[in-house]
Amino acid sequence: MNQENHCLFCRVVTGDEQAYVVYNDMRAIAFLDRYPIVPGHTLVVTREHYRDFLTTPLDDLAHLSNITKKVATAVQAAMKADGVRIFTNVGKSAGQVIFHVHIHVIPAWESEPAFNSFRKRMEITHDDAVNISGAIKEEILKLG
Ligand SMILES: [Zn+2]
Repeated sequence: MNQENHCLFCRVVTGDEQAYVVYNDMRAIAFLDRYPIVPGHTLVVTREHYRDFLTTPLDDLAHLSNITKKVATAVQAAMKADGVRIFTNVGKSAGQVIFHVHIHVIPAWESEPAFNSFRKRMEITHDDAVNISGAIKEEILKLG
């Protein structure tokens, strides 16, 4: 069994792991975080397996950046958010849990203080995931 078989995000890429996908192309895929910090929390990942941001080739990072811009614009609109946080963690000490490069896209609202990492993360319900991923996909379509 190779490394990719052990990797949760590689299994999402191959479809062996269920995920609420909002965007998909030849090199990148975006889907809802199963344990969202806030509703609309989305992850953008490369289809290719790279351990983290620092070990990802520049051309893949450039594509990831393009798709993250599109996804973040859509998440902000779909969630009627005032802003959005975009970040990536490198290494366990920084909070990286899945060792396959991914960009977090997390909506933020004026009415709600910025998230903190101690907030309890609950698994998303199927109904919420269908509604939220549907709204984000609709916004992505509008972006062309
Ligand atoms: Zn992987």
